[in-house]
Amino acid sequence: LVRAVNVIKDFGATRVLHGIDLEVHRGEVVCLLGPSGSGKTTFLRLINQLESLTGGRIWVDGELIGFEERRGRLHVRKDADIARQRSRIGMVFQRFNLFPHMTALENVVEAPVHVRGVRPSRAREEARRLLDLVGLAERADFYPSQLSGGQQQRVAIARALAMEPELMLFDEPTSALDPELVGEVLAVMRDLARDGMTMVVVTHEMSFAREVADRVVFMDAGVVVEEGAPEQVLRRPRHERTQAFLARVR
Ligand code: ATP
Repeated sequence: LVRAVNVIKDFGATRVLHGIDLEVHRGEVVCLLGPSGSGKTTFLRLINQLESLTGGRIWVDGELIGFEERRGRLHVRKDADIARQRSRIGMVFQRFNLFPHMTALENVVEAPVHVRGVRPSRAREEARRLLDLVGLAERADFYPSQLSGGQQQRVAIARALAMEPELMLFDEPTSALDPELVGEVLAVMRDLARDGMTMVVVTHEMSFAREVADRVVFMDAGVVVEEGAPEQVLRRPRHERTQAFLARVR
């Protein structure tokens, strides 16, 4: 579903990604691990076109993102086309980023109605189903300020799902939560994974990676250091840098 080839990203004179290659198959859950500053967030943002590539290419579902090839040359895509590509990808951030003046239900309804033109009554029905899926049917009419961090993050997941994405990107979705609220968010993510959602998850939650990931990718300093089954990478890391990182986070 995702194919990244030799992805390079510079911020000014600083190169933060040095040629990342990664494939994610449909239905697969890939966890990205690595020390702070290794470029995990940047890589996710490139997949979702929140940043532009310096070099390399990324395909999602066979379609080159950001650019299109015409007569052998690359052209930057039109805004509407980029919006269409982005609408197929759901993203959940560290901070929940809900609209504060809207209820949980309104947050979930917003994009389907305003971006995809879904009928409001249908969108509300679907939003209720999704809030139920994340265990928040009872909280549909609450405002973000009336919800705990874990509940807000579950609303954020429901909101992303409302666009019927074929890929979900999670950027440390539990790192801003109090420890006792982490579990409820991971449980929702685990259910999504079991239902077959394709997911790329940046996380420091090793137990989640071990249980849920099909594949773990360890990044450091803008390169993929090693990748493989969670068993292998987490228990028998081959690379010294992976070993050092795991020793620190355990
Ligand atoms: P963390 O776990 O702390 O989020 P990360 O692995 O996700 O780390 P990134 O956030 O991708 O790492 O950052 C990689 C590098 O790029 C860092 O050195 C960071 O300072 C730099 N960086 C990220 N965004 C920008 C930006 N908009 N402008 C300049 N530098 C940036």
